Amino acid sequence: MNTLADRNIKGTVFTVGRIAESEPGLLREIADMGHEIACHSFDHLPLDKQSPAQLRENTKRAKKILEDCVGQEVVGFRAPVFSLVKHTQWFVDDLKEMGFSYSSSVMPARTPLYGFPGAPQKPFKWQNGLIELPCPVGRLGSLTLPYLGGFYLRYLPGAIIQKLLRQSSEASCLWTYCHPYDFDVDEPFARISGASLWVSLLLWLNRRSAMNRMLSVVGGGGGMTLASWVSEFQETLPTHASMTPPDGKEVV
Ligand SMILES: [Zn+2]
Repeated sequence: MNTLADRNIKGTVFTVGRIAESEPGLLREIADMGHEIACHSFDHLPLDKQSPAQLRENTKRAKKILEDCVGQEVVGFRAPVFSLVKHTQWFVDDLKEMGFSYSSSVMPARTPLYGFPGAPQKPFKWQNGLIELPCPVGRLGSLTLPYLGGFYLRYLPGAIIQKLLRQSSEASCLWTYCHPYDFDVDEPFARISGASLWVSLLLWLNRRSAMNRMLSVVGGGGGMTLASWVSEFQETLPTHASMTPPDGKEVV
């Protein structure tokens, strides 16, 4: 957080409800520094690993815990592991009903975990008006890569990341993302539930470079929260007529 403060960056901290319950003071401290607190589910379960009723209940619960903790409305939601995909997009209506104004839960690329290839790669409105801020991706040959976050940011050569950044449209909403574990060099290796051995290894290795990589993409700093971006640009965003691509082809 001090690194962000030094660069005048206000970030969006997607927080798991269970963490807010156990560390309310930490969360208030982050909010007091001017960062946005947004919802990252109750316990980081992917959307399709709960029944619809459980998912609704857990998400409502997480939103309320976060709001009670920081005394502010929580308007943003990010699905764990970008698990808002074709077969879970029904949940968008629930998000809107719960009072979220935006989601940032779609990974418009094929990945080893969850992905929604064919989904729009730029911010858009779902048909119910909920705004979606998809994970930024770049094109490298035939690959579509979420190059600004997670293990892609840790493993891709720096020159390629900078090249993709230069290629990105100025109109894009570009953001980087990380989990606390991305910087935790002391954590022992553990196989991640539901992930293959090599994905677990990729998530564990190469953490020492993570901070420098992140700083290399935020440049001179001055970033804004996603909620601020939404309030500034929401009127300009297109409504997406259908999120089901006709035959798996890209729709943007
Ligand atoms: Zn997460």
